[in-house]
Amino acid sequence: MSGKTEYSPKMQALFERVAEFSDLEGIMALLGWDQQVYMPPGGAEERGLQSAALGRILHEKFATEEFGQLIADLEDEIGDLNAETDVARSVKVIKRNYEKQVKVPLPLLMESIKAQTMAHEAWVQAKARSDFSIFKPHLETIVDLRKQYVELFQPYDHIYDPLLDDFEPGMKTADVKEIFDKLRPQQVELLQAITEKELPDNSFIKQPYKEDYQDLFGRHVITCFGYDWQRGRMDVAPHPFTTGFGLGDVRITTRYLKDDVGSALFSTMHESGHAMYAQGVSEKYKRHPLGGAASLAIHESQSRLWENIIGRSKEFWTYFYPSFQMLFPEYLAEVSLADFYRGINRVEPSFIRVEADEATYNMHIMLRLEIEIGLMEGTINVGDLPEIWNNKMQDYLGITPPDDARGVLQDIHWSGGMIGYFPTYALGNLASVQLWEKLLQEHPNVPDEIAQAKFDTILAWMREHVHQYGAKYDPQEIMIKATGSKITPEPYMAYLRKKYAEIYDL
Ligand SMILES: [Zn+2]
Repeated sequence: MSGKTEYSPKMQALFERVAEFSDLEGIMALLGWDQQVYMPPGGAEERGLQSAALGRILHEKFATEEFGQLIADLEDEIGDLNAETDVARSVKVIKRNYEKQVKVPLPLLMESIKAQTMAHEAWVQAKARSDFSIFKPHLETIVDLRKQYVELFQPYDHIYDPLLDDFEPGMKTADVKEIFDKLRPQQVELLQAITEKELPDNSFIKQPYKEDYQDLFGRHVITCFGYDWQRGRMDVAPHPFTTGFGLGDVRITTRYLKDDVGSALFSTMHESGHAMYAQGVSEKYKRHPLGGAASLAIHESQSRLWENIIGRSKEFWTYFYPSFQMLFPEYLAEVSLADFYRGINRVEPSFIRVEADEATYNMHIMLRLEIEIGLMEGTINVGDLPEIWNNKMQDYLGITPPDDARGVLQDIHWSGGMIGYFPTYALGNLASVQLWEKLLQEHPNVPDEIAQAKFDTILAWMREHVHQYGAKYDPQEIMIKATGSKITPEPYMAYLRKKYAEIYDL
């Protein structure tokens, strides 16, 4: 069988096991997709049990002594084989996941899943009524369970490290703090300069645009980007997300708001960026240990690239605005391209993270990091969260949420036990610009290409330097390989300063 790699029997066994896990994970993801897209409310209880059953099967198949032995044998077998090979990397990635899973006793895992299911229901209610007291006892349980989880990973440098590592392999709390410490004063300074200027009008965005035309336009844009419809589809869900059931089926969702055309448009671009990353993983990693992604920050670097750097650029709208304007003459006939561009790039401190502009977004993340660290260190009590949240909003953005629904209750993450996730959003913003700058150095014509709706150079570059590797490299390795540097705030701040200096005449 010339041309086909021959693996040792043990390596073959590993790949076969992982292929089965990846099948089960695909089924799990499909259950989750259906839950958010099609499932009637009455299905929630049994769906929860179905997902838990599958989760238990996966855990029981994965976290066995026998599988641990297979990994250990393979480490011996690999010996000092080049650590860059797919085989060596596969064993490394599987070992890391295995060691995490096997540390968690099944009772703690089951208790966590149950607590998260209940906390999610409570959070939905608490948010709808803007009543934190409904969520409080559940969040206390979640934080307590997360502390128990973290203790399994002693010794660590910082109590937040094991949580962060689940989303951003290899990244330490100290690294993130160092980055945010550099970032914060620069963000504050930029925001101050901007808020001294007059706000551009964006009232033409906040109108009831026809949904079917929004859908048409969104699909057209991401088709131009290079989203592969043979291996994907788009549906409507309350919260936009991307999910995949293998390399051949990566789906996205969007949502249409009655009073904001930007919401669906930019979140469709955003999710297409996540999806194109997943679609771009090398075919050889199908049902494979390296078939995932490097990290959430690298994922977010891709979504932010298409949503913000490209989707909110002047070049993009130079091409697309005439057709957009033609679709919605009732709101845009009198709005010039220049005014439209300024409108979609309006900077204004706001309560809701997901709707924040590029210049204020990271502040929402920094305050969440401080709170999460405080919760884990025990210096912040869950009961004091609404007040602490509002104080930090005042401190970072100079505004105080009118209620907890628009404050501490706005995000779903904590109800799902996802503490340690938020920093990846800001890190992704920084990484997106670093990759972009490198791409521009190599292909200075890219902005002109965007103005002609040509995106193949961009997608091909990301495929080559990021997507194809799947989970082979850690996030910082990807960044060093692609850009020569770890994640750093300077390029992002330079990008923001340049962009807003022009828009706001700073
Ligand atoms: Zn995202």
